[in-house]
Amino acid sequence: MAVSLSQQEQIWDSVLKIIETHINDRHVFDSFFADSKIYRISGNSIIIVTNSGLSCTLLKTKYISLIEECVKKITETNYELTFISKDDIQSSSQPLVETKPTYFQSYSLNPKYTFDNFVVGECNKEAVQASLLITTNPGESFNPLFIYAKSGLGKTHLLHAIGNYIKEKKPFYHVLYITADAFIDEYVKFVRGNQQEESLKEFIKKVDVLLVDDIQFLSDKNKTSEMFFNVFNFLITNGKQVVLTSDRCPNELKGLEDRLVSRFNMGLSVNIKNPDTDTLLEILKLKIEANGLNINNFDYNGLVYLAENFSRNVRELEGALNRLIFYTITTKHQSKINMETIQESVSGISSKKGKNNELTEDRIIEVVGDYYHLTEEQIKSKVRTSQIALARQISMYLCRTLLSTPFVQIGNIFGGRDHSTVMTSVEKVDKMLKTDAQLNNAISSIKKSLNIKQNT
Ligand code: ADP
Ligand code: MG
Repeated sequence: MAVSLSQQEQIWDSVLKIIETHINDRHVFDSFFADSKIYRISGNSIIIVTNSGLSCTLLKTKYISLIEECVKKITETNYELTFISKDDIQSSSQPLVETKPTYFQSYSLNPKYTFDNFVVGECNKEAVQASLLITTNPGESFNPLFIYAKSGLGKTHLLHAIGNYIKEKKPFYHVLYITADAFIDEYVKFVRGNQQEESLKEFIKKVDVLLVDDIQFLSDKNKTSEMFFNVFNFLITNGKQVVLTSDRCPNELKGLEDRLVSRFNMGLSVNIKNPDTDTLLEILKLKIEANGLNINNFDYNGLVYLAENFSRNVRELEGALNRLIFYTITTKHQSKINMETIQESVSGISSKKGKNNELTEDRIIEVVGDYYHLTEEQIKSKVRTSQIALARQISMYLCRTLLSTPFVQIGNIFGGRDHSTVMTSVEKVDKMLKTDAQLNNAISSIKKSLNIKQNT
């Protein structure tokens, strides 16, 4: 198993914490264990660097059994330990650190998303149970675990919770969280020859747990899917855990090779459904308390009003709550939040869904979002992964061509972009429409949902 630098640090930190409790003399611990670290873990051996030659001698004689015992406790492995002093390393030519991962640098587990702050209800019980089961023995029960649900119902949260929990119990496991979009972007860089020392495939093959979010974005990306199939098979065959999320069940993943879909079906698929009002109220309570506020200051019926008006998507419910909190602080200066304030704070957003079919910029963003299974926030965000960027460009194009909205105004709607960025996006879509049949289909279908009459 490949152990990254940060995992090495975590292991050694945990080992030191136990050792510290066994050494009565604080000065001995501080003096001889200070600045010690794991130099390298390879195969069955761990090399530990100490702060001086004297510490090295002391650790490998007097404290060896204690250190061995603690390492075993943390890693559940009988490692053979070797000690070297820092001075020996400095005089050798070997690098002190492992090569840093060269892929998915901006992707890491978000410690904010855990099982502790994930509310369990009928809608997601099965998904949570399956997730907890695979964390006990990754790679041994359901593999892959496939979690599917509409946007905003907690897939990403659960994926991070799985990763965080595994890291907590097995700090030496290499857990990789990525989105399918990020995989596509890395793959494109890779084939363009931008690969560094490690190949993308080899990099992913070294993980123990692979968590891939929004796998539907692999649709119609044949070359990338082929590569994904390859690493996916390797990991499953070698008993490594894979967890995938998607906005639809495996059989509905259009544009993905059958062999990939049938591989997905070999594990376990679980669905998260729309939450009921009680679960939504529980989520509101949790988020209110997480904001350091007292739930008793919120009118209960007002919270029910929020839960019922934003029942389709927990992300939107959270957005409404944030708006309410902001509104109360900035406008109302109230400590008790009544029904009237709650209704007022969300009046601009709660009636939007479903009732109003008038063609507006918001309506365009909503329909494009539904088509690409993205939220309004994602489309307006600065995120530049390919699928989100495309949905954003299409939305800008439609605002311009259907509503003649000025470029500057479009820029403001889409998170404060300048007018030249908007112009470039609109021109790009216009140009692509001349050759790209898939884009033509997408735009026709979006226009149909917007009730726009079309020539063809
Ligand atoms: P998805 O990936 O399915 O689109 P996310 O995981 O991003 O959805 O969830 C959207 C937001 O809603 C996140 O902030 C998440 O913490 C929150 N959320 C969703 N379901 C729950 C739940 N059951 N308990 C607590 N928070 C939740
Ligand atoms: Mg998500």
